[in-house]
Amino acid sequence: SQGARLSVQLYPYGDGQHLLLARDVTALEQAEAMRREFVANVSHEIRTPLTVLVGFVETLQTLELEAEQRQRYLHLMGQQAQRMHHLVQDLLTLSRLEGSPLPGYDQSVGVAAILQQCEVEARALSALLCQQGQQGEAAHRLEFPAPDAPGMDGELLGVQVELVSAFSNLITNALRYTPAGGQVQVRWLPQPDGSARLQVRDTGPGIAPEHLARLTERFYRIDRSRSRETGGTGLGLAIVKHALQRHGAQLHIESQLGQGSTFTVHFPARRIRPDLS
Ligand code: ADP
Repeated sequence: SQGARLSVQLYPYGDGQHLLLARDVTALEQAEAMRREFVANVSHEIRTPLTVLVGFVETLQTLELEAEQRQRYLHLMGQQAQRMHHLVQDLLTLSRLEGSPLPGYDQSVGVAAILQQCEVEARALSALLCQQGQQGEAAHRLEFPAPDAPGMDGELLGVQVELVSAFSNLITNALRYTPAGGQVQVRWLPQPDGSARLQVRDTGPGIAPEHLARLTERFYRIDRSRSRETGGTGLGLAIVKHALQRHGAQLHIESQLGQGSTFTVHFPARRIRPDLS
């Protein structure tokens, strides 16, 4: 095919005849290029906070600083250390999720219990963002399904912590990228064919079409500095994608610039249990 890379070897054998061996190494080369890019990204992500940390350590060692200034530097150093900590945690999570699934992906987990835990985490983050003034003063309008909403008495087959973490990641992104006063709506949508969807809608800045397909790639960010400001490692959606794949679910992203984004997780009917009570 066009653009394919071939490795060609010629083996002489016997009376002037040759054996020509041609192998398509396109996939191998692509995998190798992706590996190199990943290592380069990780190194860059670690080097940046490390450079800042080393700089502050040197400053603290060599300069006589006022107590207030020292505290400020120590605070900044703590932030950089936190950033590296999050990065390492996310890298470990991703590497675990990229491996083959262990047994235990078929436990029954209540939809209401998952969403309740997500709601507690989301309200805590929304309050924190509001307090920090990162998104301005006003809180988000945050909406979750009522405990007696359709399908809330159903069960998903999977691992509770991974489902909560995947959903929470989408909700956290919606909150982090949506400015103050915006709306974040979480819905559970049972479908007539027995499948179900989790939907996270925000009224944030939206995502341009050219980025949509690449958002779940490791370290892909639309705006690097904005993502860092909000504490992102750039691995969140890659983790979400792999965690959902293990649950037989798929992530679909729709968005319009200036209007907001909708992240929808599709669970096939075989991963959903109707109400057993
Ligand atoms: P990060 O840690 O940078 O947030 P993610 O993998 O979670 O990494 O997301 C990748 C990128 O997708 C983000 O950097 C951001 O540019 C974009 N993004 C994710 N969620 C949203 C959203 N709800 N609204 C707008 N942009 C988003």
